[in-house]
Amino acid sequence: MKIGFIGLGNMGAPMAANLAKAGHEVFGYDTAEVSVEGVTQVCEASQATIDMDAVITMLPDGRILKSVYEQIVPLGKPGALFLDCSTVDMLSSKSAHQQAAEAGLLSVDAPVSGGMGGAIAGTLTFMVGSSAEAFEQVKPLLDIMGKRVVHCGEGGAGQAAKICNNMLLGISMIGTCEAFALGEKLGLDAERLFEVMSTSSGSCWSVNTYCPVPGVGPSSPADNGYKPGFAAELMLKDLRLSQNAAEQVDASTPMGLNATRIYEKFVEREGLGKDFSAMLLALAASTRGQ
Ligand code: NAD
Repeated sequence: MKIGFIGLGNMGAPMAANLAKAGHEVFGYDTAEVSVEGVTQVCEASQATIDMDAVITMLPDGRILKSVYEQIVPLGKPGALFLDCSTVDMLSSKSAHQQAAEAGLLSVDAPVSGGMGGAIAGTLTFMVGSSAEAFEQVKPLLDIMGKRVVHCGEGGAGQAAKICNNMLLGISMIGTCEAFALGEKLGLDAERLFEVMSTSSGSCWSVNTYCPVPGVGPSSPADNGYKPGFAAELMLKDLRLSQNAAEQVDASTPMGLNATRIYEKFVEREGLGKDFSAMLLALAASTRGQ
């Protein structure tokens, strides 16, 4: 297939490289200077759109997605797949679907989970929102970039699933950091506490796979000076998306709201540019009432 790939950042670059490695002809565009193995670099978004069988976007947020779609949707080949893998708000996602559908394109939202490691290894999880027809067409491409593909429902359903998942992740990471910070103050050895929690009812991805304590559990950003990984400001973005979505449907998410406030304070004070698991440092340093 001829594939245009727009947004070659931490996630987009390895995803595009994997499509090229699988034998597709990939044309990549990014506003920054980037080079990706096997991908032909182009200078305009239009060159990654015109005549392409599929156009994939992996962009920072809904505002940017909207401006890129305004530019590229009118240039899409009739019947081409337009696949957005960015994490964006529900309204931007739905409006992208609508624009693409009105232009006679097959539109899919497929945000991902699995981080840069998963993007490089081709083991991402894709949460897909699309018609059954678009899903059937997009599945072989997603199978190259990921190891799990879940069709969550019609357009926008992938974003909805991603927003729910990441709200839970933000909450569980704060809970994990709280437990380790309390354990330390109670005089517990972090390694012993990990051994208990990772095999007991407290076990979760934030404890078992992405432990926020340096030198404890499998290798994680904590072992690398909290270099992201998944930046605290991206977690804050996703938590805000959850609150925005909850407001739209009048859902009560008290823990999600609290997690958003905690990450807001963290990013404002010391978390900007650090991995989201560096929340441990803030909680370990604070005392009751702070
Ligand atoms: P990133 O900032 O590394 O990459 C975004 C890229 O888009 C950059 O290279 C930027 O130059 C480019 N860009 C910005 N505006 C553009 C435009 N108008 N046209 C073309 N290119 C443009 O971000 P990332 O970490 O790759 O994340 C991308 C998306 O994936 C985000 O929505 C993020 O929330 C989501 N995500 C990230 C992770 C992660 O672990 N990093 C995990 C899951 C989902």
